[in-house]
Amino acid sequence: MTQAGICDVLVVGGGPAGSTIAALLAAEGRTVTLVDKDVHPRFHIGESLLPMNMPYFDQLGVAGQVAEIGMPKYGVEFVSPYHKKTVELQFGQAWDKTHPYSYQVRRSDFDHVLLKNAAAKGAMVIEGCRVGAVDFSQEGVNARGKDEAGVEHRWQAKFLVDATGRDTLMASRLDCKARNTRHNSAAIYGHFVGAKRPEGQAEGNIAIFWFDKGWFWFIPLADGTTSIGAVCKPDFLKTRGDRDMTEFFHSLIALAPELTERLKEATLTGPATGTGNYSYRSTRMTGKNYIMVGDAFAFIDPVFSTGVFLAMRSAFLGAKAVAQCLDRPRSASHAQQRFEREVRRGIDTFSWYIYRITRPGIRNLFMNPRNVLRMQEAVLGLLAGDIRRNPALHTRLQCFKGLYYINTMILKLKGKDAQTAMQVA
Ligand SMILES: Cc1cc2nc3c(=O)[nH]c(=O)nc-3n(C[C@H](O)[C@H](O)[C@H](O)COP(=O)(O)OP(=O)(O)OC[C@H]3O[C@@H](n4cnc5c(N)ncnc54)[C@H](O)[C@@H]3O)c2cc1C
Repeated sequence: MTQAGICDVLVVGGGPAGSTIAALLAAEGRTVTLVDKDVHPRFHIGESLLPMNMPYFDQLGVAGQVAEIGMPKYGVEFVSPYHKKTVELQFGQAWDKTHPYSYQVRRSDFDHVLLKNAAAKGAMVIEGCRVGAVDFSQEGVNARGKDEAGVEHRWQAKFLVDATGRDTLMASRLDCKARNTRHNSAAIYGHFVGAKRPEGQAEGNIAIFWFDKGWFWFIPLADGTTSIGAVCKPDFLKTRGDRDMTEFFHSLIALAPELTERLKEATLTGPATGTGNYSYRSTRMTGKNYIMVGDAFAFIDPVFSTGVFLAMRSAFLGAKAVAQCLDRPRSASHAQQRFEREVRRGIDTFSWYIYRITRPGIRNLFMNPRNVLRMQEAVLGLLAGDIRRNPALHTRLQCFKGLYYINTMILKLKGKDAQTAMQVA
């Protein structure tokens, strides 16, 4: 059997990027079909959201639904064995104080909220159907997919939005996906019940625990479960050999005494999961009658919880670009260039900090926060996802970078730039 559909825009992928852009374009009255290979709700990693996600929830009309499933996240805690202390930073003290919190979410629930919202706004949503082939013509795009019942689907659309996440439909087809040469990391993660959490408003804070092999995330979810993940160099994770993944995960946790203490009474609810080197960027983001949004174009690293924010941001920017391409084809390339520039600027802004997150120079600054020249407010703004063009904030971030280089030079001169936690202890 074959089913055929005609639409203005075919969105492939129903994660945060795909559901967001589908909702925005459908709300404008365009015919939009969104296809996801999975049936929602389905598991996805990436549970910590940023305060600057909140305006997007408002604009999509899902703020109430996200609040119902989310654990309020007011800040971030950095735990460093190199400094033998913990520092808690609150988003309410960031440069822009109007978004003092965000949420930790189960992605199965969160992605489902966004997908249902796309359908409610008028998009036709097809789940359990993998799009396999896309062919472009002068008129637009022809795509084919197969659903779980073996039915073949064909679509004819004026425009394609690739929102396939790490499956990178278009980048793989065009062979333009490039491993990030500046940064590589891999993760092992699992969910615990019974983890010791901070009390009061700080209960939902994300915590970052540094250790000699990388860092851990500690993400408290609303149902009492806590998501724990270790992020390390892929080569180190390969030393697992044929050891059981869960056993290896526990051995990593044992390397971080402060985290071990928080998990003393906790139980892992299922086997640990590993994910290989995931830092990449495609060499192109747009072409005639298509754009890539979210992870379909690039993913850096989970450390600042920027993935969902950048995915939704690119969807908002992408919706404007697609609308212009459809309504004023003559200015399509201009619209796409502007879209690309903005998306790249967002990724690049975070990348500088992410690449350095396990370096002593950055750790020192994060563990000794001072609001000299409002630098702390600026860095907190960045951690909240505030990458709007703001010269005053940008200047403070430049000062922070300068401080980092000075700090790094001093550490090198003192021979303390590669100290392990054991040496400090
Ligand atoms: C270890 C790890 C931890 C992370 N932690 C965080 C975090 O705490 N906070 C955060 O913000 N981000 C985090 N991220 C990143 C975050 O998960 C992603 O950036 C985010 O999900 C990107 O959204 P997206 O919509 O672009 O892609 P996805 O969410 O991956 O959605 C892509 C969708 O496309 C569908 N699809 C794929 N191929 C096809 C096809 N051929 N046909 C049809 N459908 C298809 C998939 O089923 C999926 O639903 C983490 C990532 C990793 C690897």
